[in-house]
Amino acid sequence: MREIKIFNTLSRKKEVFEPVVEGHVGLYVCGPTVYNNVHLGNVRTFLTFDILFRYLKSLGYKVRYVRNITDVGHLVGDGDEGEDKIGKMAKLEKLEPMEVVQRYTNDFHKVLEEFNFLPPSVEPTATGHLIEQIEAVKTLIDKGLAYESKGSVYFDIHKYNEGGGDYGKLSGRVLEDLLNETRELDGQSEKRNPLDFAIWKNASPEHIMQWPSPWGMGFPGWHLECSCMSQKYLGDQFDIHGGGMDLKFPHHECEIAQGSSLTGKDPVKYWMHSNMLTVNGQKMSKSLGNSFLPAELFAGAHELLDQAYSPMTVRFFMLQSQYRSTLDFSNDALKGSQKAFRRLLNGFRIVKTLEFEASEAATDEKKKADVEKAIEGFYDALGDDLNTAVGIAHLFTMLKYINMIYMNQLSASALGEDTFQALKGKYIHFFTDILGLKEEENGTDESVLRGMLELYKEYKLNRAFDKVDQIRAYFAENGMVIKDLKHRIDWAWAE
Ligand code: AMP
Ligand code: ZN
Repeated sequence: MREIKIFNTLSRKKEVFEPVVEGHVGLYVCGPTVYNNVHLGNVRTFLTFDILFRYLKSLGYKVRYVRNITDVGHLVGDGDEGEDKIGKMAKLEKLEPMEVVQRYTNDFHKVLEEFNFLPPSVEPTATGHLIEQIEAVKTLIDKGLAYESKGSVYFDIHKYNEGGGDYGKLSGRVLEDLLNETRELDGQSEKRNPLDFAIWKNASPEHIMQWPSPWGMGFPGWHLECSCMSQKYLGDQFDIHGGGMDLKFPHHECEIAQGSSLTGKDPVKYWMHSNMLTVNGQKMSKSLGNSFLPAELFAGAHELLDQAYSPMTVRFFMLQSQYRSTLDFSNDALKGSQKAFRRLLNGFRIVKTLEFEASEAATDEKKKADVEKAIEGFYDALGDDLNTAVGIAHLFTMLKYINMIYMNQLSASALGEDTFQALKGKYIHFFTDILGLKEEENGTDESVLRGMLELYKEYKLNRAFDKVDQIRAYFAENGMVIKDLKHRIDWAWAE
């Protein structure tokens, strides 16, 4: 199996990936809190792990990909106090909380499908795992690592650290600094220490999502669901845990504390964090009011956009940077991506039609080596901490040779049959299976377009140039051009 290096947030360096169980990968990614529409920032993070899932599978790993749905416990403000995000929305929209959950889970699925994401192997919900969470709280109390206070249960950071834990090790935060940063908040007095976090919260009567527990009516703390669900479906120690950079602290830090306290093992071998999608350098977020909804992009309905962009253009735009760098969203950047993506897409259209023809022509060793280098280069780039940016550069080198063959500037036999077939097969494989790109609807059926090209040929032969122009204009209006080559007539996306 090919090697893949992953930047592990825990060790702060790139490590060669070695699975817990040979040939298998357990991958857990924190899913959305389903109280509003997913925005493009969220999409970027889930895209990172879609690429990881696809790439690991393509290498031959059997991957169990678990991505949860947070449908309870995530409070407004991300802390231990305040309203539940879903409960708040339910009140606002006068809906049953599970209607809110269903509505935005449906939206999430629709968006992921539009962007051609693979579904995960398991998609568990927090409310579907209340029994596991209550059991985990009991275990932590029994172990002396959590305590009850006024119907809530808190994880005891000091006990954890005294017992060898290292709270802060993932995010690199120092306990003393954290303490200094902590403001006294309402209800903080329930805690022995301000840094302790809730694993079960007592619910006031007006809190609409609540369940019975040994500590009274309440609901689970946000961090606990991920510990319980990852342990249930992937085991006490699993391979990779992912999420956006902003989940490192406190969410993932708390997951480590809970998981290792429950089982005695560090729950995760490799922590991966995707960087933020920004707008004018600022994190895209609903609360900052600078978020874009996918639907706004597909319709071009946003003041910062001067046109509509297709889902694959946006997917490609995000893949043009490696997941650990920030990516700034702008109309100009998208325009550039649309052009580049259309070039690759045209290559995808034509490569499928290219066939090997044996000829007497000598092999062009330099070009053959260049093609082979580009194929290996793509694998090396993805294997180097999912560097899709560099991978795409190699795909463009492959495209150059595909275009040369298509334009009759190079014969397929000059590459040798094996290299030609590799060029064709790998281009399709990289484009569709690994990068998850695909051809999009263009509003007109392919067979209709073919028919129009036949007419175009006939009109041209009969010198009916006004008709020829009409057909050309139709293609142009739909973002296409007619490729009138000596040896064939075809259409392509306008680049
Ligand atoms: P949430 O539903 O808010 O918990 O977010 C779902 C996922 O999207 C989490 O992994 C977040 O880290 C991630 N996320 C939120 N905002 C952004 C952003 N601007 N860029 C990239 N990822 C984001
Ligand atoms: Zn989580």
